[in-house]
Amino acid sequence: MSITLSEARVVAPDGIHEGWLTIEDGRITHIGRGAAPGNGHSLSGMHVVPGFVDIHNHGGAGASFPSGDPEGARRAAAFHAGHGTTTMLASLVTASPGDLVSATSALADLCADGVLAGIHFEGPYISAERCGAHDPAQLRAPDREELSGLLKAGRGHVRMLTIAPELPDALDVIRDAAAEGVIAALGHSDATFDQTIAGIEAGGTVATHLFNAMPPLHHRDPGPIAALLQDERVTVELINDGVHMHPAMARLAYEVAGAGRTALITDAMAATGVGDGTYVLGTMRVRVEDGVARLVEGGSIAGSTLTMDVAFRRAVRSVGLSLVEAAEICSLTPARVLGLAARLGSISVGKDADLVVLSDDLEVTGVMKRGEWLTEPR
Ligand SMILES: [Zn+2]
Repeated sequence: MSITLSEARVVAPDGIHEGWLTIEDGRITHIGRGAAPGNGHSLSGMHVVPGFVDIHNHGGAGASFPSGDPEGARRAAAFHAGHGTTTMLASLVTASPGDLVSATSALADLCADGVLAGIHFEGPYISAERCGAHDPAQLRAPDREELSGLLKAGRGHVRMLTIAPELPDALDVIRDAAAEGVIAALGHSDATFDQTIAGIEAGGTVATHLFNAMPPLHHRDPGPIAALLQDERVTVELINDGVHMHPAMARLAYEVAGAGRTALITDAMAATGVGDGTYVLGTMRVRVEDGVARLVEGGSIAGSTLTMDVAFRRAVRSVGLSLVEAAEICSLTPARVLGLAARLGSISVGKDADLVVLSDDLEVTGVMKRGEWLTEPR
Protein backbone atom coordinates (compact mmCIF):
# COMPACT_ATOMS: atom_id res chain seq x y z
CA MET A 1 0.00 0.00 0.00
CA SER A 2 1.30 3.46 -0.90
CA ILE A 3 0.43 6.79 0.74
CA THR A 4 1.59 10.21 -0.46
CA LEU A 5 1.55 13.15 1.93
CA SER A 6 1.54 16.38 -0.06
CA GLU A 7 1.81 20.11 0.70
CA ALA A 8 3.94 19.23 3.72
CA ARG A 9 6.85 20.96 5.40
CA VAL A 10 9.09 17.95 5.90
CA VAL A 11 11.60 18.42 8.73
CA ALA A 12 14.52 16.31 7.46
CA PRO A 13 18.05 16.18 8.93
CA ASP A 14 19.37 18.51 6.18
CA GLY A 15 16.62 21.11 6.49
CA ILE A 16 12.94 21.71 5.88
CA HIS A 17 11.65 20.51 2.50
CA GLU A 18 8.44 22.12 1.26
CA GLY A 19 6.99 19.25 -0.69
CA TRP A 20 5.85 15.69 -0.26
CA LEU A 21 6.76 12.21 0.81
CA THR A 22 5.64 8.74 -0.15
CA ILE A 23 5.25 5.78 2.17
CA GLU A 24 5.11 2.17 1.01
CA ASP A 25 4.79 -0.89 3.24
CA GLY A 26 5.44 1.19 6.33
CA ARG A 27 8.66 2.78 5.06
CA ILE A 28 9.50 6.16 3.56
CA THR A 29 10.29 5.61 -0.12
CA HIS A 30 10.49 9.14 -1.61
CA ILE A 31 10.88 12.69 -0.36
CA GLY A 32 10.39 15.45 -2.93
CA ARG A 33 10.17 19.22 -3.17
CA GLY A 34 7.28 21.09 -4.75
CA ALA A 35 4.05 19.56 -5.98
CA ALA A 36 3.51 15.85 -5.42
CA PRO A 37 3.10 13.58 -8.43
CA GLY A 38 -0.56 12.48 -8.52
CA ASN A 39 -3.03 12.88 -5.71
CA GLY A 40 -1.82 12.95 -2.16
CA HIS A 41 -3.21 13.49 1.29
CA SER A 42 -2.68 17.26 1.62
CA LEU A 43 -1.23 18.44 4.91
CA SER A 44 -1.98 22.08 3.98
CA GLY A 45 1.53 23.27 4.81
CA MET A 46 1.78 21.57 8.20
CA HIS A 47 5.16 20.40 9.47
CA VAL A 48 6.06 16.72 9.57
CA VAL A 49 8.70 15.66 12.08
CA PRO A 50 10.02 12.18 12.91
CA GLY A 51 8.16 10.20 15.58
CA PHE A 52 9.56 10.99 19.02
CA VAL A 53 11.78 8.48 20.83
CA ASP A 54 11.53 8.62 24.64
CA ILE A 55 14.23 6.64 26.45
CA HIS A 56 13.04 7.47 30.00
CA ASN A 57 9.34 7.17 30.83
CA HIS A 58 7.51 5.69 33.83
CA GLY A 59 3.95 5.82 32.51
CA GLY A 60 0.94 8.03 31.86
CA ALA A 61 -2.83 8.03 31.58
CA GLY A 62 -3.02 6.89 35.20
CA ALA A 63 -0.86 3.81 34.59
CA SER A 64 2.60 3.14 35.93
CA PHE A 65 5.16 0.83 34.25
CA PRO A 66 6.71 -0.15 37.60
CA SER A 67 3.42 -1.81 38.59
CA GLY A 68 3.97 -4.33 35.77
CA ASP A 69 0.29 -4.26 34.80
CA PRO A 70 0.19 -5.07 31.06
CA GLU A 71 -3.18 -3.39 30.37
CA GLY A 72 -2.06 -0.23 32.12
CA ALA A 73 1.25 -0.30 30.28
CA ARG A 74 -0.56 -0.53 26.95
CA ARG A 75 -2.75 2.41 27.94
CA ALA A 76 0.29 4.51 28.92
CA ALA A 77 2.07 3.68 25.65
CA ALA A 78 -1.04 4.57 23.63
CA PHE A 79 -1.40 7.84 25.52
CA HIS A 80 2.20 8.85 24.75
CA ALA A 81 1.80 7.71 21.14
CA GLY A 82 -1.06 10.21 20.89
CA HIS A 83 1.53 12.85 21.80
CA GLY A 84 3.91 11.72 19.07
CA THR A 85 6.06 9.15 20.89
CA THR A 86 6.29 6.23 18.50
CA THR A 87 9.22 4.51 20.27
CA MET A 88 9.66 4.32 24.02
CA LEU A 89 11.36 2.52 26.85
CA ALA A 90 9.39 1.62 29.97
CA SER A 91 11.32 2.79 33.02
CA LEU A 92 11.10 0.86 36.28
CA VAL A 93 12.11 2.38 39.61
CA THR A 94 13.94 0.98 42.63
CA ALA A 95 11.97 -1.95 44.04
CA SER A 96 12.47 -5.27 45.80
CA PRO A 97 14.20 -8.01 43.78
CA GLY A 98 10.93 -9.95 43.41
CA ASP A 99 8.91 -6.92 42.26
CA LEU A 100 11.57 -6.01 39.70
CA VAL A 101 11.61 -9.52 38.25
CA SER A 102 7.83 -9.72 37.95
CA ALA A 103 7.44 -6.25 36.37
CA THR A 104 10.30 -7.03 33.98
CA SER A 105 8.84 -10.28 32.80
CA ALA A 106 5.37 -8.73 32.31
CA LEU A 107 6.78 -5.81 30.31
CA ALA A 108 9.02 -8.09 28.22
CA ASP A 109 5.83 -9.47 26.62
CA LEU A 110 4.85 -5.95 25.51
CA CYS A 111 8.33 -5.43 24.11
CA ALA A 112 7.98 -8.65 22.12
CA ASP A 113 4.64 -7.29 20.81
CA GLY A 114 6.31 -4.04 19.67
CA VAL A 115 4.33 -1.84 22.09
CA LEU A 116 7.52 -0.92 23.94
CA ALA A 117 11.10 -0.69 22.63
CA GLY A 118 12.59 -2.05 25.83
CA ILE A 119 12.89 -1.82 29.59
CA HIS A 120 14.97 0.64 31.61
CA PHE A 121 15.97 -0.03 35.21
CA GLU A 122 16.30 3.27 37.04
CA GLY A 123 17.88 1.83 40.17
CA PRO A 124 18.14 -0.01 42.48
CA TYR A 125 21.94 0.58 42.32
CA ILE A 126 21.80 4.30 42.98
CA SER A 127 23.05 6.69 45.63
CA ALA A 128 21.14 7.09 48.91
CA GLU A 129 22.26 10.75 48.89
CA ARG A 130 20.74 11.33 45.43
CA CYS A 131 17.84 8.88 45.32
CA GLY A 132 15.16 11.50 44.62
CA ALA A 133 11.79 9.76 44.53
CA HIS A 134 13.21 6.23 44.81
CA ASP A 135 12.38 4.11 47.88
CA PRO A 136 15.48 4.42 50.11
CA ALA A 137 14.60 1.13 51.84
CA GLN A 138 15.11 -0.79 48.56
CA LEU A 139 18.43 0.74 47.47
CA ARG A 140 21.19 -1.85 47.32
CA ALA A 141 24.78 -2.29 46.25
CA PRO A 142 25.32 -3.21 42.59
CA ASP A 143 24.91 -6.97 42.30
CA ARG A 144 26.12 -8.88 39.24
CA GLU A 145 24.04 -11.95 40.15
CA GLU A 146 20.84 -9.96 40.52
CA LEU A 147 21.43 -8.11 37.24
CA SER A 148 21.99 -11.37 35.43
CA GLY A 149 18.66 -12.69 36.79
CA LEU A 150 16.87 -9.52 35.73
CA LEU A 151 18.31 -9.76 32.23
CA LYS A 152 17.01 -13.33 32.03
CA ALA A 153 13.55 -12.18 33.14
CA GLY A 154 13.71 -9.51 30.42
CA ARG A 155 14.41 -12.07 27.66
CA GLY A 156 16.60 -9.68 25.66
CA HIS A 157 14.39 -6.61 26.16
CA VAL A 158 16.29 -4.87 28.97
CA ARG A 159 17.93 -1.94 27.19
CA MET A 160 19.19 0.41 29.92
CA LEU A 161 20.40 0.45 33.53
CA THR A 162 20.82 3.66 35.53
CA ILE A 163 23.61 3.21 38.08
CA ALA A 164 25.72 5.38 40.39
CA PRO A 165 29.36 4.68 39.44
CA GLU A 166 30.77 5.42 42.92
CA LEU A 167 29.00 2.46 44.58
CA PRO A 168 30.91 -0.74 45.44
CA ASP A 169 31.24 -3.08 42.43
CA ALA A 170 29.47 -0.53 40.21
CA LEU A 171 32.25 -0.58 37.62
CA ASP A 172 31.98 -4.37 37.27
CA VAL A 173 28.21 -4.13 36.87
CA ILE A 174 28.64 -1.40 34.25
CA ARG A 175 31.07 -3.66 32.36
CA ASP A 176 28.64 -6.58 32.60
CA ALA A 177 25.76 -4.45 31.36
CA ALA A 178 27.76 -3.11 28.42
CA ALA A 179 28.92 -6.63 27.52
CA GLU A 180 25.27 -7.78 27.46
CA GLY A 181 24.27 -4.91 25.16
CA VAL A 182 22.53 -3.01 27.97
CA ILE A 183 23.15 0.75 27.93
CA ALA A 184 24.84 1.80 31.17
CA ALA A 185 23.43 5.19 32.20
CA LEU A 186 25.17 7.11 34.97
CA GLY A 187 22.95 9.02 37.35
CA HIS A 188 21.17 9.32 40.70
CA SER A 189 24.78 9.66 41.77
CA ASP A 190 26.90 11.54 44.28
CA ALA A 191 30.08 10.74 42.34
CA THR A 192 33.07 13.03 42.04
CA PHE A 193 34.39 14.07 38.63
CA ASP A 194 37.00 11.28 38.74
CA GLN A 195 34.50 8.62 39.82
CA THR A 196 32.25 9.64 36.95
CA ILE A 197 35.12 9.39 34.47
CA ALA A 198 35.79 5.87 35.83
CA GLY A 199 32.13 5.03 35.16
CA ILE A 200 32.47 6.25 31.57
CA GLU A 201 35.72 4.31 31.12
CA ALA A 202 33.90 1.18 32.34
CA GLY A 203 31.23 1.65 29.65
CA GLY A 204 28.75 4.32 30.79
CA THR A 205 27.34 6.08 27.71
CA VAL A 206 24.25 7.97 28.92
CA ALA A 207 23.69 10.58 31.65
CA THR A 208 20.35 9.94 33.35
CA HIS A 209 18.54 13.31 33.50
CA LEU A 210 21.68 15.44 33.60
CA PHE A 211 21.57 18.04 36.40
CA ASN A 212 18.81 16.25 38.35
CA ALA A 213 19.73 13.84 41.17
CA MET A 214 23.46 14.66 41.07
CA PRO A 215 25.72 17.30 42.67
CA PRO A 216 25.49 20.66 40.90
CA LEU A 217 28.34 22.11 38.84
CA HIS A 218 30.96 23.78 41.01
CA HIS A 219 34.08 25.44 39.66
CA ARG A 220 36.41 23.81 42.24
CA ASP A 221 34.53 20.52 42.41
CA PRO A 222 33.12 19.88 38.93
CA GLY A 223 31.40 16.59 39.84
CA PRO A 224 29.49 14.39 37.41
CA ILE A 225 27.94 17.16 35.30
CA ALA A 226 31.22 18.45 33.87
CA ALA A 227 32.45 14.89 33.27
CA LEU A 228 29.27 13.71 31.51
CA LEU A 229 28.67 16.86 29.51
CA GLN A 230 32.14 17.04 28.00
CA ASP A 231 32.77 13.39 27.18
CA GLU A 232 32.21 12.51 23.53
CA ARG A 233 31.10 8.99 24.52
CA VAL A 234 28.13 10.20 26.57
CA THR A 235 24.63 11.27 25.52
CA VAL A 236 22.92 13.49 28.08
CA GLU A 237 19.21 13.19 28.90
CA LEU A 238 17.40 16.44 29.69
CA ILE A 239 13.91 16.85 31.20
CA ASN A 240 12.93 19.98 29.32
CA ASP A 241 9.75 20.81 31.23
CA GLY A 242 10.78 24.13 32.78
CA VAL A 243 10.42 22.55 36.25
CA HIS A 244 13.39 20.19 36.41
CA MET A 245 15.70 22.78 34.88
CA HIS A 246 15.75 26.36 33.73
CA PRO A 247 15.76 26.72 29.94
CA ALA A 248 19.14 28.48 30.20
CA MET A 249 20.66 25.28 31.64
CA ALA A 250 19.09 23.22 28.85
CA ARG A 251 20.70 25.67 26.41
CA LEU A 252 24.05 25.40 28.18
CA ALA A 253 23.97 21.60 27.99
CA TYR A 254 22.94 21.76 24.33
CA GLU A 255 25.77 24.18 23.49
CA VAL A 256 28.34 21.83 25.01
CA ALA A 257 26.99 18.42 23.99
CA GLY A 258 25.42 19.41 20.65
CA ALA A 259 22.39 17.79 19.08
CA GLY A 260 24.30 14.56 18.51
CA ARG A 261 24.72 13.95 22.25
CA THR A 262 21.53 15.48 23.67
CA ALA A 263 18.32 13.46 24.13
CA LEU A 264 15.15 14.99 25.49
CA ILE A 265 13.18 12.64 27.73
CA THR A 266 9.90 12.97 29.59
CA ASP A 267 10.59 11.01 32.82
CA ALA A 268 6.76 11.02 32.80
CA MET A 269 4.84 9.33 35.61
CA ALA A 270 1.30 8.00 35.92
CA ALA A 271 -0.35 11.42 36.42
CA THR A 272 0.70 12.50 32.92
CA GLY A 273 -2.42 13.23 30.95
CA VAL A 274 -4.68 12.76 33.97
CA GLY A 275 -4.24 15.76 36.22
CA ASP A 276 -3.50 16.74 39.76
CA GLY A 277 -4.02 14.26 42.59
CA THR A 278 -2.21 11.56 44.56
CA TYR A 279 -0.42 8.72 42.77
CA VAL A 280 2.24 6.10 43.44
CA LEU A 281 5.63 5.79 41.78
CA GLY A 282 6.91 2.31 42.66
CA THR A 283 6.24 2.21 46.39
CA MET A 284 6.39 5.99 46.96
CA ARG A 285 3.38 8.27 47.29
CA VAL A 286 3.46 11.27 44.99
CA ARG A 287 1.25 14.36 45.01
CA VAL A 288 0.77 16.27 41.76
CA GLU A 289 -0.13 19.94 42.02
CA ASP A 290 -0.28 22.24 38.99
CA GLY A 291 1.28 19.42 36.98
CA VAL A 292 4.37 19.21 39.24
CA ALA A 293 4.90 15.78 40.85
CA ARG A 294 6.51 15.71 44.30
CA LEU A 295 6.92 13.03 46.97
CA VAL A 296 4.31 13.35 49.72
CA GLU A 297 7.15 12.70 52.22
CA GLY A 298 10.01 15.17 51.80
CA GLY A 299 8.86 16.94 48.64
CA SER A 300 11.49 15.67 46.14
CA ILE A 301 10.49 16.15 42.49
CA ALA A 302 9.11 12.76 41.48
CA GLY A 303 9.19 12.46 37.71
CA SER A 304 7.29 14.78 35.43
CA THR A 305 3.94 15.12 33.71
CA LEU A 306 5.68 15.97 30.44
CA THR A 307 4.93 14.55 27.00
CA MET A 308 7.44 14.60 24.14
CA ASP A 309 5.39 17.04 22.04
CA VAL A 310 5.59 19.57 24.87
CA ALA A 311 9.33 18.89 25.28
CA PHE A 312 9.74 19.48 21.52
CA ARG A 313 7.73 22.71 21.60
CA ARG A 314 9.66 24.01 24.60
CA ALA A 315 12.96 23.19 22.85
CA VAL A 316 11.91 25.57 20.09
CA ARG A 317 10.17 28.26 22.11
CA SER A 318 12.06 28.35 25.42
CA VAL A 319 15.48 26.97 24.49
CA GLY A 320 15.59 28.63 21.07
CA LEU A 321 16.40 25.64 18.87
CA SER A 322 15.39 25.26 15.22
CA LEU A 323 12.83 22.62 14.24
CA VAL A 324 15.64 20.56 12.69
CA GLU A 325 17.66 20.70 15.92
CA ALA A 326 14.61 19.93 18.08
CA ALA A 327 13.77 16.93 15.87
CA GLU A 328 17.31 15.63 16.24
CA ILE A 329 17.25 15.68 20.07
CA CYS A 330 13.70 14.30 20.31
CA SER A 331 14.13 11.51 17.75
CA LEU A 332 17.46 10.80 16.05
CA THR A 333 19.82 11.04 19.01
CA PRO A 334 17.68 8.90 21.34
CA ALA A 335 17.18 6.42 18.45
CA ARG A 336 20.97 6.23 18.12
CA VAL A 337 21.28 5.60 21.86
CA LEU A 338 18.98 2.60 21.41
CA GLY A 339 20.91 1.37 18.35
CA LEU A 340 17.83 1.96 16.16
CA ALA A 341 18.99 4.94 14.10
CA ALA A 342 19.41 2.92 10.92
CA ARG A 343 15.68 2.14 11.02
CA LEU A 344 14.04 5.21 12.62
CA GLY A 345 14.64 8.63 14.20
CA SER A 346 14.60 10.85 11.12
CA ILE A 347 12.57 11.44 7.98
CA SER A 348 14.87 9.72 5.51
CA VAL A 349 14.27 7.39 2.58
CA GLY A 350 14.34 3.77 3.74
CA LYS A 351 13.42 4.46 7.35
CA ASP A 352 10.18 3.49 9.08
CA ALA A 353 7.33 5.95 8.45
CA ASP A 354 7.09 7.05 12.10
CA LEU A 355 5.82 10.60 11.68
CA VAL A 356 4.25 13.41 13.68
CA VAL A 357 2.23 16.14 11.94
CA LEU A 358 2.36 19.49 13.73
CA SER A 359 0.17 22.55 13.28
CA ASP A 360 1.65 26.05 12.94
CA ASP A 361 1.64 26.39 16.72
CA LEU A 362 3.43 23.01 16.97
CA GLU A 363 0.45 21.09 18.35
CA VAL A 364 0.17 17.42 17.31
CA THR A 365 -2.53 16.93 14.69
CA GLY A 366 -1.47 13.54 13.34
CA VAL A 367 0.70 10.58 14.30
CA MET A 368 1.80 7.72 12.05
CA LYS A 369 3.62 4.58 13.15
CA ARG A 370 5.17 2.32 10.48
CA GLY A 371 2.90 3.77 7.83
CA GLU A 372 -0.37 3.48 9.82
CA TRP A 373 -2.13 6.52 11.17
CA LEU A 374 -2.63 6.31 14.92
CA THR A 375 -4.23 9.76 14.65
CA GLU A 376 -5.14 10.97 11.17
CA PRO A 377 -4.59 14.70 10.60
CA ARG A 378 -7.67 16.67 9.69
ZN1 LIG B 1 12.92 8.51 36.01
